Amino acid sequence: MTLRPAGTARLFLPLLLALLALSLPAAPAQANAPKVFRLLFINSYHRGYSWSDGIEQGLRERLAASGQPVEISYEYLDSRRFAYGSQMEHMARAMEIKYRSYPPDVVVVSDNAAFDFAKQYRDRLFPGIPLVFCGYNNFRPDVIQGMANVTGVNEEVSVPGAVELGLAVQPGTRSLAFVVSTGEASSARIAEIAEALVFPALRERFQVTVLKDASLEAIRVGLAALPRETLVFLCGQTSDQGAGRALSPPENGRLVSEVSPFPVYTFWDFHLGTGVIGGRILTGPDQGRAAAELVLMVLAGTPAGSIPVMMRSPTTPIFDYHVMERFGVSPASLPPGSEVLNRPFSLWHTYRLQIMGVALLVLVETVLILLLLRAMRGRRRALAALQDERSLLEDRVRQRTEELKNANEELAQLSFRDSLTRLANRRRFDEALETECLRHRRSGKPLSLILLDIDRFKDFNDRYGHIQGDECLRRIGDFMGRAAARAADLTARYGGEEFAVILPETGQDGATALAERIRLGIEALGMPHEASDVAGHVTASLGVATLPSGEQASPLELVRLADRQLYLAKSQGRNRVCAVKTG
Ligand code: GH3
Ligand code: MG
Ligand code: MG
Repeated sequence: MTLRPAGTARLFLPLLLALLALSLPAAPAQANAPKVFRLLFINSYHRGYSWSDGIEQGLRERLAASGQPVEISYEYLDSRRFAYGSQMEHMARAMEIKYRSYPPDVVVVSDNAAFDFAKQYRDRLFPGIPLVFCGYNNFRPDVIQGMANVTGVNEEVSVPGAVELGLAVQPGTRSLAFVVSTGEASSARIAEIAEALVFPALRERFQVTVLKDASLEAIRVGLAALPRETLVFLCGQTSDQGAGRALSPPENGRLVSEVSPFPVYTFWDFHLGTGVIGGRILTGPDQGRAAAELVLMVLAGTPAGSIPVMMRSPTTPIFDYHVMERFGVSPASLPPGSEVLNRPFSLWHTYRLQIMGVALLVLVETVLILLLLRAMRGRRRALAALQDERSLLEDRVRQRTEELKNANEELAQLSFRDSLTRLANRRRFDEALETECLRHRRSGKPLSLILLDIDRFKDFNDRYGHIQGDECLRRIGDFMGRAAARAADLTARYGGEEFAVILPETGQDGATALAERIRLGIEALGMPHEASDVAGHVTASLGVATLPSGEQASPLELVRLADRQLYLAKSQGRNRVCAVKTG
């Protein structure tokens, strides 16, 4: 009975374990997820102290920018407010417990207290864990001699560099005052180097005053005795200025600036804004970023011991505009690249790019408008010129048209006029007779025609010559034109020495009477014709034909009729009128 359960257990236990194993969730695939590193940051000071806050901020920012996931734990030794001593042992014990089961991958220590703490307790607390330090002036490579797996950043504050900057900004300086301190390692180190190497050289050219571990009152009295052209350099963190407690660096800067009648130069960003004028400034964020660079190298697998200590020195001059103004320092006297804090708000400074952009736009627009106006003016001018050209052309066309019209008229006149007598020519006569015959047919009014031939004109020519003959023809033509005076009458030169007169709406009597008047008129002209067998002067024979009302005949018939009468007049002895009434 007792064996049974044991046998059952022996049988079921492996099965149960197998089932359990199967039901357990598979281990998460961690191959792809990046490892989260742990960093312990041991701060010499306390939270809210601008210097160490700045370092933490620079470190955090640089690590975040790297994309490397790092989880940071912070420990604060608070050494500025509590002189470190026996409490360190208790803090070490607390950290030992805290980090034993949760060890960091890298430890960062900032400034002297934390560095000393790490030196003393690292083998116990963080054995084998790489250490990265950061601080200024005290972290020379020889300080870490013998320490394994350590690297760090050391920034060197340079007193000669600060003096050089002050003299560049205020070249009239005659006297230099240095407030130095031996209260802590870094400040003591600055003082030590300055006293050994810097001050002796400066004393050759300037009045040099060193106020070492002086009380605030001693600083006030010491500075009050100095000439107007003095610069003050705040080279260290004095630990107690008679306030009965440790002063924070910002308080230090403020108190020294208050008692100083001269501009106070500094080396650290924690003094900025307290009344100091500026200097080549060490900034916390800068130091934090530099430390982060080393941390990233260590986390990437580089042994800390093989990374040389990073030696840096601040280069950017930073100045406080308010203090510059107080001591009459113009921004123009600052070296190029200087950063100026508290510069008064200036529209130009703030919106320089926008203002320049708008100005450029306005300029471009103005240029475009000017170009447009010029183009428009050019176009207007071209249009005006075109208009002028057009009216000129129109005038010319008008003139030419007029000339052409006159020429045409003249041509028409010429083609219808006999050039010698200026009477209508034969062509005009033919047309007129045709027209009048048609009109006669329509109107039923009588139509008469006189044909005239000068007697013995060949003999006239022979006797007096052709020029005289022409003149005779002209005079007879002229007379005949005036004789047939009615508007509808047409006198024409029929050919040679023959003339014709068309007399619309004129009966035989009227036509014969006119013919007779012409005959008499020619005689009356009295042009001598000695070769004539008719008279001693020029005479003419005339034939008259009339188409009475209602009678129809062609122009040719009418001419033939008149010609027959002319022939009769010739044959009857010349210088006479013969007329016949048709029908
Ligand atoms: P009839 O009395 O029979 O008419 O004799 P006629 O000499 O006048 O006639 P004929 O027909 O023989 O001569 C006409 C002349 O008229 C011939 C010509 O020299 C002349 N004559 C014709 N036309 C012109 C002209 O334009 N100028 C001049 N000077 N003479 C012309
Ligand atoms: Mg004739
Ligand atoms: Mg004749």
